[in-house]
Amino acid sequence: MRIIPISLPTPFYIGPVNVYLIAEDPITLIDTGPKTKEANDALHEGLRKARVRISDIRRIVLTHAHEDHCGLARSVRDQAKDAEVLVHAWETGHRVGRLEYEEHRNLLVRAGVPSEEIETMRKMYEGVRQYADSFENEEYGELRDEEELEFETGTLRIVHTPGHTPGSCSFIREADRTVIAGDCVLKRITPNPILSPDPIDPSKRFASLAEYLVSLARLRTFAPTLVHGGHGEPVHDFEELFNRYFRAIRDRQAEVIRLLPKSGATAWEIARQMFPVTDDVHRFLSVSEAVAHLDLAHSEQKIEVEFGDGREVYRPISVH
Ligand SMILES: [Zn+2]
Ligand SMILES: [Zn+2]
Repeated sequence: MRIIPISLPTPFYIGPVNVYLIAEDPITLIDTGPKTKEANDALHEGLRKARVRISDIRRIVLTHAHEDHCGLARSVRDQAKDAEVLVHAWETGHRVGRLEYEEHRNLLVRAGVPSEEIETMRKMYEGVRQYADSFENEEYGELRDEEELEFETGTLRIVHTPGHTPGSCSFIREADRTVIAGDCVLKRITPNPILSPDPIDPSKRFASLAEYLVSLARLRTFAPTLVHGGHGEPVHDFEELFNRYFRAIRDRQAEVIRLLPKSGATAWEIARQMFPVTDDVHRFLSVSEAVAHLDLAHSEQKIEVEFGDGREVYRPISVH
């Protein structure tokens, strides 16, 4: 079974996205790129080089439902004459627009984000949504943890690896321990655990960073030899990357705890201190990151949190 990477341009800060073609029956595309003419052209060119017609694609598998990965899913499905589209059920919240949900707004309010900033974030994400068509729930098939995607000469095991988003999935070819990991594993940057409502109880926040650490540890048990990420080059030394991620997360947590004044601060205030000069695009990511680290520090009982006035205020553990 040959895994053919195809790099597609995106209009986003992150740069090109990698999608993966498995050119054997049933011909499968893992991720599709954003809905832009440039990405669509590059996808057709990549398929042509691999001697695959878009109409031959039978299955579209999504690692997660961010626009840079899923944007062309509907268009590819239509051109492929009704290929099936598979995504994990926990991605529901993402694939129909994020910040329009009342739950999502509530999470930002609780994190102390001022209302005019929430409005800016909402507008920005409405802008981002143009890069993906939304699907109705019944148009998707479901990716289930531990099940297998079967091909003519082998299988890919589905591994649910939540963290970057609740429904992120990775795919493992066990014969040679090759992994396709979407944005769960990226060579040059530590993936951002995005602020999300919990898929089971949307009034709660998804424990993105804690879940992410579990996902990384789980991938590690497969002793991957090669990991194809959603952006950048493949990772040959997963163990090194795993250790580097854990160090980076520990360092970031120490920084977050250090920034907490005795009088307490919201996640938004901490985010503004961590990333004072971020532009609009990155403010949502920076508040996501602050919340993720504060939540993890709290669950590890390193800080305290108090809910009052509609917002959560974090404090260093007071020494009695
Ligand atoms: Zn992503
Ligand atoms: Zn991505």
